[in-house]
Amino acid sequence: MTDRDVTHTVETVPLARLPSGRTVETVLHRYLGDPDGPTVYLQALQHGGEVNGAAVLRRLHDRLTESALAGEVLAVPVANPFAFDHRVYMAPTRLDAINSNMNRLWPGDPDGTLMERLVDSLWQRAAGADAIVDLHTGGPYMRSHTRFTPDDSRSRDLARAFGLDLIVADGSPIENPDTGGQGKLREMAAAAGIPAITPELAHSREIVDASVDRGVAGIENVLVELGVIDGLLQTGEPTVGTEKTPLFTEESGLFRSNDLSVGDRIDAGTEIGEVFDPTSYESLQTIVADRAGMLLSLNRGSTVMEGESIGSLITIE
Ligand SMILES: [Zn+2]
Repeated sequence: MTDRDVTHTVETVPLARLPSGRTVETVLHRYLGDPDGPTVYLQALQHGGEVNGAAVLRRLHDRLTESALAGEVLAVPVANPFAFDHRVYMAPTRLDAINSNMNRLWPGDPDGTLMERLVDSLWQRAAGADAIVDLHTGGPYMRSHTRFTPDDSRSRDLARAFGLDLIVADGSPIENPDTGGQGKLREMAAAAGIPAITPELAHSREIVDASVDRGVAGIENVLVELGVIDGLLQTGEPTVGTEKTPLFTEESGLFRSNDLSVGDRIDAGTEIGEVFDPTSYESLQTIVADRAGMLLSLNRGSTVMEGESIGSLITIE
């Protein structure tokens, strides 16, 4: 690796034009080291409340400007200003009633709705990368993990390098209509041949240092794995989850979960909880695990609608 100074520049990326004529922009940081190296695209805050990703990139800024880099790192701390500024998960439907969840729209569309145009602007920057890390966080009812697209060994290697102790195969490349990609950035990247991962760090809506620490260490690990920075990989052998499936309720009512926690290993037939009628007090459904696995996420005490997911289960490889 050549020991040369890093050139840090800030680019303003136009995302969309609002009815008032105002252009909404976001900021992309470029850290250019030795040009003879890979390009890595980092992004946070596709979902408005997932604030720890932006804190990770802020902390990483100092590390990147003080390091010798082989290649280039691109970082977008606020990918979705519409959701972030409104302090909500998705873009307000008053701005885009059709496509409010940004992470179902990749690669976007320059002639599409507001959010499709926003995604297209960012995909233009991400599509040239050699690897992508899309930082997300789960709520308190999701076990921290890193997602990779199945049958993509380079993405799986990156997920392992990131260093969380659980990695989960999820989704499918967008180019494969038979298996139905959902329009996530990670799936689009897989279709374009770019290894990509989605760390789901702990805690949404509040900056939590432990979560930020994990995120910074994870990205440093990824950059070491890719040869962008020098260092030692700080990872162990993770548990691998596959076949992520939602746990559905067939009834509307109130869901009461049994004494289970996310991350618990459960047997086939384990009762997850019940849905009851809040007016008649009648138990409407017992939700049962159809196979052995690990509880990846679990709602508690929530008002549920028929056909909705109350959590998710993964099979442990
Ligand atoms: Zn998210």
